[in-house]
Amino acid sequence: MDVLIVGGGVCGTALLFELARYTDLARIALVERYAELAQVNSRASSNSQTIHCGDIETNYTLEKALSVKRTAEMIVHYADLLEPDVRERCVFRTPKMVLAVGEAECAALRERFQQFSPHFPAMELLEKEQIAAWEPNVALLNGQPRPEPLLAIGIRSTYTAVDYEQLAASFVDQARTAVDGTTAAGGGARQLDLLLGTTVRRITPEGDLFRVQLAPTPGCGTAQPGERQAPRELLARHVVVNAGAHSLLMAQSMGYGLHYSCLPVAGSFYFTPDLLRGKVYTLQNDKLPFAAIHGDPDVRAPGQTRFGPTALLLPLLERYRPASFWEFLRVLRLDWAVLSVLWQLLRVADIRNYILRNLLFEVPWLRRRLFLADARKIVPGMRLEDLRFAKGFGGVRPQLIDKRQRRLMLGEASIPARPGLVFNVTPSPGGTCCLGNAARDLEAIAERLGCRFDRERLACELYGEPSLTAAA
Ligand SMILES: Cc1cc2nc3c(=O)[nH]c(=O)nc-3n(C[C@H](O)[C@H](O)[C@H](O)COP(=O)(O)OP(=O)(O)OC[C@H]3O[C@@H](n4cnc5c(N)ncnc54)[C@H](O)[C@@H]3O)c2cc1C
Repeated sequence: MDVLIVGGGVCGTALLFELARYTDLARIALVERYAELAQVNSRASSNSQTIHCGDIETNYTLEKALSVKRTAEMIVHYADLLEPDVRERCVFRTPKMVLAVGEAECAALRERFQQFSPHFPAMELLEKEQIAAWEPNVALLNGQPRPEPLLAIGIRSTYTAVDYEQLAASFVDQARTAVDGTTAAGGGARQLDLLLGTTVRRITPEGDLFRVQLAPTPGCGTAQPGERQAPRELLARHVVVNAGAHSLLMAQSMGYGLHYSCLPVAGSFYFTPDLLRGKVYTLQNDKLPFAAIHGDPDVRAPGQTRFGPTALLLPLLERYRPASFWEFLRVLRLDWAVLSVLWQLLRVADIRNYILRNLLFEVPWLRRRLFLADARKIVPGMRLEDLRFAKGFGGVRPQLIDKRQRRLMLGEASIPARPGLVFNVTPSPGGTCCLGNAARDLEAIAERLGCRFDRERLACELYGEPSLTAAA
């Protein structure tokens, strides 16, 4: 096996696609614990279905927004490669805006527009009347303009919604098409193995290689009659672990990434009838490390608007899998460094109140009433009977704590354990960065394994750069 990928979410499948399409590696495999792809955080119901490109995310600095934009656009360029019917299942055009309510927020948003609009030319500054034209339920209350000062930055129509579950399925289909009928450098047919319902138990380095021990996942029988049984172990030249929070668990069980702890932050959602036409984000409270709530049409539930996510500290590595509590305890690695980060968070009154409020958002009866107050910032006329807790929705963002620096990390982490073995942990916006992170891992793989890598084709197809060959 040349490259083995652990985890069939949107990140693992994005890497599978890039390896298949842009290299000539002979044998690539992806191992996924569940019987289907993308059933954890990349599932359509687990996340906010957004391509975060930095224009309406007020928790991003300009520098972060520009770097996210380049990676985010890779999804849009990728979608251009798809047949129209597949593309329409993966990415969706909608209007989007970030809304400021009250004098202070409006002033801050106006300033942000001055700073960001030269880099995001599609941005429009929307006063109350324009907001009413785009999103009547946001700007009007009982048919009259709502009383508070309002301002928004809007982007009229762009690919901004995404079904990461469908995207993962399309990556695998595209990977299969790229490999089928092609030959590797050595002359043999290239092979792509997808091992579903299979759990990676252990990875053991053996010289320059890695012995990967596999086991069927209990309760995930996928083998059809006559189908080949999954092997018990594989020997791989390069292993990339894209197993979400479980990447950290696996890394630490091998003695890597021990300076990290994990704080799982679950996000829940609420449904209402069709109240919004596009995505409406709210301004970030700078004191809070978690993104503010938003509302948008659910790409899988026509006629329904989804509000959220909340941010609940939950002692589970996987939402709705209580047994992952024990795994959480193993990656928490509670010590004075972790306690000091928790203390830093709890010391700030805004964060303390926010954590408490988010706990109450999970209490039946109370939760709808409390969430209504927050959601009314977006839709002032929302009624209690409009709001329904989205049962079974929402995933867990594995936020890491860097114990050496005693701080909560907000972005993703890649733990380069040793040459040929990397563990990726991807909280939000991990879906947006799937192709970008895969391109980074692909560079390292191509360099180490010395395979052919059509870097120019990747730059042209995924970054939208002009083709040098065509120009010549
Ligand atoms: C509430 C919420 C909202 C979000 N909103 C957005 C958003 O709008 N935009 C955005 O860009 N991102 C968003 N994110 C983040 C995004 O969902 C994740 O970053 C992304 O899905 C991560 O993909 P992944 O492939 O790394 O992980 P996952 O999708 O979790 O996949 C990991 C896979 O690894 C498998 N696995 C684990 N252990 C093993 C093992 N031992 N053997 C084999 N397989 C294993 C799992 O079964 C799983 O399928 C959100 C997250 C949450 C929780």
